[in-house]
Amino acid sequence: MTMGVKAARTDTDRATGNVDATAQSRVVLVTGGSRGIGAACAAWFLDNGDRVAVTYRGASAPPPLIDRSFETSRATGATRYFAVRCDVTDPAQVENAYSEIEEHWGSVEILIANAGITRDTLLVRMGEDAWHEVIETNLTGAFRVAKRAVARMLRLHHGRIVFISSVGAWVGLAGQANYAASKAGLVGMARALAREVSSRQITVNVVAPGVIETDMTDALSKSRLSELEAMVPLARVGSPQDVAGVVGFLASDAAAYMTGTVVPVDGGLGMGL
Ligand code: NDP
Repeated sequence: MTMGVKAARTDTDRATGNVDATAQSRVVLVTGGSRGIGAACAAWFLDNGDRVAVTYRGASAPPPLIDRSFETSRATGATRYFAVRCDVTDPAQVENAYSEIEEHWGSVEILIANAGITRDTLLVRMGEDAWHEVIETNLTGAFRVAKRAVARMLRLHHGRIVFISSVGAWVGLAGQANYAASKAGLVGMARALAREVSSRQITVNVVAPGVIETDMTDALSKSRLSELEAMVPLARVGSPQDVAGVVGFLASDAAAYMTGTVVPVDGGLGMGL
């Protein structure tokens, strides 16, 4: 398993709960935060002093994201991190996950809709199951978690939603018709939603990563990965932290005037498209 979490803060900072005094402790949900890009996003928000829930699908919760001292606020002893069981393809599990978070901390103020899968194969060989599974997880799952979050954010009169799309939405890599459709769909959905909720100071943005080193890219053959890497102007595969920093920025006050944007984090791979 690739946790891919490289901390920006030192172990001493963590042990002493030395978080930025100016940071607000906001309630964050990261779907698919158990590993990869989602785990790096969760770590970013924990570093920022926020309270973070991540989802997992297995029978038992994943191991603690970083270390126990970091999960608990030194000042209050309150938990700042926990994992909720939630398969985004199951509406009941989505509802239960939100209820659990609300019971602990109140309404989710920042949603990172990150859970995603690939089922790559050429379109002529793609079965309806591979099509539906990807659309159901990547697009309908994101719709489901956003809809539930927005219901509360509208009452709060603030909120941040970031959808994790992909450069594949517009580059259109062979073998990814289902994936590209799901990730392009997120862009349209995000922009429609951004217009619907902007009067309540809720922003909705999209991050489009390129080739990022996670379990998802570990599944590619070495030669395919080298081919993709060769297409990247910055000449390297990205890290989950490269993506997390941009996601964190979009959820910050510094990005308060940004909504409906699509921000590539792809080393230039999709430049100009
Ligand atoms: P990983 O395969 O490393 O992690 C995927 C995460 O999504 C896991 O936490 C997984 O949970 C979760 N997940 C999958 N299906 C569901 C589901 N039905 N319900 C809830 N959670 C689910 O992938 P990455 O970290 O690489 O990808 C994260 C996001 O970034 C995805 O949306 C992906 O499409 C996107 N992306 C990734 C790129 C890359 O190069 N890696 C490039 C562009 C976009 P579990 O642990 O339970 O399996």
